[in-house]
Amino acid sequence: MRVLVTGGAGYIGSVVTEKLIEDGHEVVVYDNLSKGHRAAVHAEAKFVEGDLHDTETLSRTFKEHKTEAVMHMAADALVGESVTNPAKYYHNNLVGGLSLLDAMRESNVRRFVFSSTCATYGEPERVPMDETLPTDPLNPYGQSKLAFEGALKWYGAAYGMNYVSLRYFNAAGATKLFGEQHDPESHLIPIVLQAAAGRRSHVEIYGEDYQTRDGTCVRDYIHIVDLARAHILALGILDERTAIYNLGCGGDGYTVREVIDTAREVTGRDIPVRVGARRAGDPAVLVASSEKIRRELGWTPTMQDLRVIIESAWNWMQEHPEGYEEGKR
Ligand code: UDP
Repeated sequence: MRVLVTGGAGYIGSVVTEKLIEDGHEVVVYDNLSKGHRAAVHAEAKFVEGDLHDTETLSRTFKEHKTEAVMHMAADALVGESVTNPAKYYHNNLVGGLSLLDAMRESNVRRFVFSSTCATYGEPERVPMDETLPTDPLNPYGQSKLAFEGALKWYGAAYGMNYVSLRYFNAAGATKLFGEQHDPESHLIPIVLQAAAGRRSHVEIYGEDYQTRDGTCVRDYIHIVDLARAHILALGILDERTAIYNLGCGGDGYTVREVIDTAREVTGRDIPVRVGARRAGDPAVLVASSEKIRRELGWTPTMQDLRVIIESAWNWMQEHPEGYEEGKR
C-alpha cells in the first residue's frame, strides 16, 4: 500500500516506516523536522518537509504520491510542557490533526492509523487497563489526543473514513537503524542509559512513595518493533472497520527501580541514582490489557522481556554515540 507517515523522522515514525518498507509498502514521510531528524528518515522512503497546518501541501502530496493510507505520528508529546503551554498542544495535536483530516477528505484518502496514548485515560480505576475504562486525562497532552479521537469518530462516520486509534503505553528500545533521541531527553530508559554511558551524573527517581511493590511507578514498556507491527496489522482492517486498541505488553509492568537494575545488568555499568520528588501528573501504575488487539488483530509482543528492550536501546546508543548526526546521511 502507498502510506504517508506524518512524523516519520521521529522515534516511533522512523521505526514504523522501516517496518512498512520491510513489508513491501511504499512510504512517504511527511515531517516538519521540528523534533524529528532528517537522518532518521529511512533511505527508501520519500521525504516531504512540510507542516501539518499546511493543508494545501498535504493535499498536493496525497495526489502526487497517490496515497492510500495515512499513519499520523506527528505530535507534541511532553506531558509537563502541555500543562504550562496547552495552546501548543491543542494547536498542533488537535488543529494540526484536523488540517490533515481535511486534506484527506479533499483527496479521498480513507484509511487512517492514529498514534494515541494511554494518557487519554488519566488515573485508571483499575489495571490492567482495557478500552472500556472511562477517559479522563490528567493533562492537556492526553486531552488533545482524546479531542482528536473525538473528531475522528465523527469525521469517520460522516465522511466514510475508517481509522484505528492505537493508545500506546511506553514505547522503548531500538532497531539497528533507528533509536530514541529527544532533546532534551525526558524518557526513563534513554536517561538511564545516558547515565550508564557516563553522559549524565545520575538518574533521578521521581518519587518512591507510591503504592507499588518498591514504591516507584510501574509502567508497561513495549518494544518499538512490536509497536510498529501493530500499525501494519491495523492497516489490514481499515477497509472493513474502525477500532480503538490499547497497545502495551501487559503483565506486571516494571517499576522505575526494576528498569534501572535491568540496565545495570545489561550494560555492566554503574548507574548512580538519587531519589527526588514525584513528577506532577504521574499515575502510580499504567499497565495495558492488550487482550482486544491480541484477539481481534492477532497481535502478540515478541520482545516483552525488559532485558531485550534495554539491550536494543543500549546497542543503538553504542552505535550512535552522537545520536543522529544532523546534515549527514
Ligand atoms: N522517571 C524517573 N526519572 C526520570 C524519568 C522518568 O523516575 O528521569 C519515571 C517517571 O516518573 C515514570 C517512569 O519513569 O514513572 C516513565 O517515565 P517516562 O517519562 O519514560 O514515560 P511516561 O510514563 O511519563 O510516558
